[in-house]
Amino acid sequence: MPAPGELTFAAPRGAKKPPRHLADLSPAQRKEAVAALGEKPFRAKQLSQHYFARLAHDPGQWTDIPAASRGRLRDALLPDLMAVVRHISCDGDTTRKTLWRLFDGTLVESVLMRYPDRVTMCISSQAGCGMNCPFCATGQAGLDRNLSTAEIVHQIVDGIRALRDGEIGGGDAGGTGSPARLSNIVFMGMGEPLANYNRVIGAIRRLTDPEPDGLGLSQRGITVSTVGLVPAMHRFADEGFSCRLAVSLHAPDDELRDTLVPVNTRWRVREVLDAAWEYAAKSGRRVSIEYALIRDINDQAWRGDRLGRLLKGKRAHVNLIPLNPTPGSKWTASRPEDQDAFVAAIAAHGVPVTVRDTRGQEIEGACGQLAGAER
Ligand code: SAH
Repeated sequence: MPAPGELTFAAPRGAKKPPRHLADLSPAQRKEAVAALGEKPFRAKQLSQHYFARLAHDPGQWTDIPAASRGRLRDALLPDLMAVVRHISCDGDTTRKTLWRLFDGTLVESVLMRYPDRVTMCISSQAGCGMNCPFCATGQAGLDRNLSTAEIVHQIVDGIRALRDGEIGGGDAGGTGSPARLSNIVFMGMGEPLANYNRVIGAIRRLTDPEPDGLGLSQRGITVSTVGLVPAMHRFADEGFSCRLAVSLHAPDDELRDTLVPVNTRWRVREVLDAAWEYAAKSGRRVSIEYALIRDINDQAWRGDRLGRLLKGKRAHVNLIPLNPTPGSKWTASRPEDQDAFVAAIAAHGVPVTVRDTRGQEIEGACGQLAGAER
C-alpha cells in the first residue's frame, strides 16, 4: 500500500480505466486470463513471445496460434492502447518526439534520442502531473490520470520496434535509418513516477523480466526521476532494483525549493537527500541530482557551493539542466558565465557534475510542451 500522503497525488481524476492488456499482467496472471477465455494456458507464453520478443502485434503474424483463437486473444489481451497523433523529429532525425492519444483521448509524450554510443528513451508515467513545479510545462496543466502499466510499457515496446525498423536517424555508418537497440530508459517524460508507484514498479518488471515474460532490458539502464516523495523513495529502495534514481532538487535550500518544487513543503531537502543516500546504499548506484539552472533564480555561485557541501563525499552526481523555457514563462536559462561559476563551485567539493545536453529544444522538447500545445 502507498504510504499515507502519496494517495493525494496518485488519485486520478478520470473514472474510466484503460483496457486490460497483457503487459499489465504477471506471467502467472496471463495464464489465468488465457484459461478464463477457454484457451490453453501455454497460449499466454506464445502471446508474450509475440508481444515482447517478436514485436509482432498483428494477429495475422501469430501462425502458431489457431486462426479461430487469434481474434479472441487479441481482443482480451492485446487491445490497442494508444495511437500516434504525430511524430516530430529534429537533430538530424536522431531525436523523435511522439505525441500519443490514449483510449480516452488523454494525451502523453515520449521521446527517442539516438547518440553514437547509445539510445535513450524518455517516457511518461502519468498523463499530466500533480506536482505543480512552476518551470515545468506538464506541471502547469495538472494531473489527468495515472497511466496503466501497459500504457507505460507500450511506449517502450513501440520505441524498440521503431528502432528495429530503422525509423530513427543516425547510427555508426552515419546513414539514417540503420536499425538500433534501446540502451537507456528515463522516467522523465510527463508525470511523477513515484506518485503512480505500483504501476511504475509493474512496468519496470515488464521491461526487465527476461524474454518472453518481458523485454529483457537491463535495470541498470533505467532511471526513475522523482521530485522527492520520501515515503515512496524508501519503498523503492526496498524493491531491490539496480535502477538509477534521479532526484529533482533544483535548490539546496528549503526556502527556494519550496517555490520551485512545491512538494518540498512536505518533505524537506534534508529528508529527500537522506532517502536518496539510502537508495544509493541499497542499490549500489550513484544517485543523479537534477538541477535545472534558472537565470538569477537558483544559479548563484553561493548556491552551487551550498549544493557541493550537501553532496560532498556522497554517492551522487549532479546533472545540471539549462532551463528549457516554457511558453509564457518569464524564466530562462542561466548566462554562460554564471553556469560556469556554478559548475566550478560544485566541482570544488570533489562532486562530479555535468551539464545535460539539450536536445529537442526546437521540437518543444521541454517536458509536457507538445501535449500542452495540442490542448
Ligand atoms: N516528475 C519527475 C520526472 C519528470 S521531469 C521529476 O520531477 O523528477 C524530468 C526532469 O526535467 C526533472 O528534473 C524536471 O524538474 C526537469 N524539468 C521539467 N521542466 C523543465 C524545464 N522546462 N527545463 C529544464 N528541466 C525541466
